[in-house]
Amino acid sequence: MLQQKVKELFASQLEQWPMARRNFDDLNSVQVAEVRFDACRMPVTFNAGRIRSTAAKVDKKTIAERRCFLCGENRPAEQEGIEYGRYTILINPFPIFKNHLTIPDSSHTDQMMNAERMGEMLDLAHDLSDWAIFYNGPKCGASAPDHFHFQAGDRGVMPVEEEIKKADKVLYKSDKLTVKTIDNYVRKVVILEGKERDVLTAAVEQVMKAVGEVVVREPEPMVNIITVWDENEWRVAVFPRREHRPSQFFLEDEAAKIVFSPGAVDFGGILILPRKEDFDRLQVEKETIADMFGQLSFTDEQFAELTDKIAKFSL
Ligand SMILES: [Zn+2]
Repeated sequence: MLQQKVKELFASQLEQWPMARRNFDDLNSVQVAEVRFDACRMPVTFNAGRIRSTAAKVDKKTIAERRCFLCGENRPAEQEGIEYGRYTILINPFPIFKNHLTIPDSSHTDQMMNAERMGEMLDLAHDLSDWAIFYNGPKCGASAPDHFHFQAGDRGVMPVEEEIKKADKVLYKSDKLTVKTIDNYVRKVVILEGKERDVLTAAVEQVMKAVGEVVVREPEPMVNIITVWDENEWRVAVFPRREHRPSQFFLEDEAAKIVFSPGAVDFGGILILPRKEDFDRLQVEKETIADMFGQLSFTDEQFAELTDKIAKFSL
């Protein structure tokens, strides 16, 4: 069984790879402070090990000049993987989760979501049901936008998993598919539920197309996606976005600056802050958290336009 093999990979990698072991050990000292909003909770975490990813330069020039860390030939000698179709399942040596995986395509090819990739994401969620599988668009937190990859983290860590389960605002419903959202959720979310792989795959493709009609962005509509297999069906959360990083990220004044560059995990409700001063500040500044998610997410008007399109689905 795949899950068992992945758990064995973890155990053997932590034994044989000192750098990874150290980084996973460091997770025990990550500080957490609970922040609550009306419709959700958003624990903020101080995780210094994530600075590399949060502050990563992902402009074309930087990406073209570096050696891709997801390509097989550039990986650390200690890193081993499990083949899964056209993917390789690896442990992520810079973790957020206690069992954090990176799942790159075995060949160097752009981070780009489509129906085929979405189908494979559903397969992964099904076969690794102890993990939530997530996708960061090329300008939505992926630190390797030139090499297709998913990530996976332990189920039950991101608050979004429980919150979307209770979502009751239905945008579309048929025999095979339910699409919902949650009001006042700090960020905007489209939740898709169903048991049929082809229907869900087509539905996510249509949601992405609609996102791209409301806010035109290259090279693809900006989204983060989280997928779980739960209670014999898939649940997919799509977070439509309009920006990559909040204005605070770019401030020169060190006291005003916030090093926050959210990807799927942050949209899933766990805010990753690699600097202590940002952690101290955000746990008491709820309005700053809401402001930053507001800058990155669809506006109310944009989201209304999107939900109008979803209401006209025929799936
Ligand atoms: Zn690569």
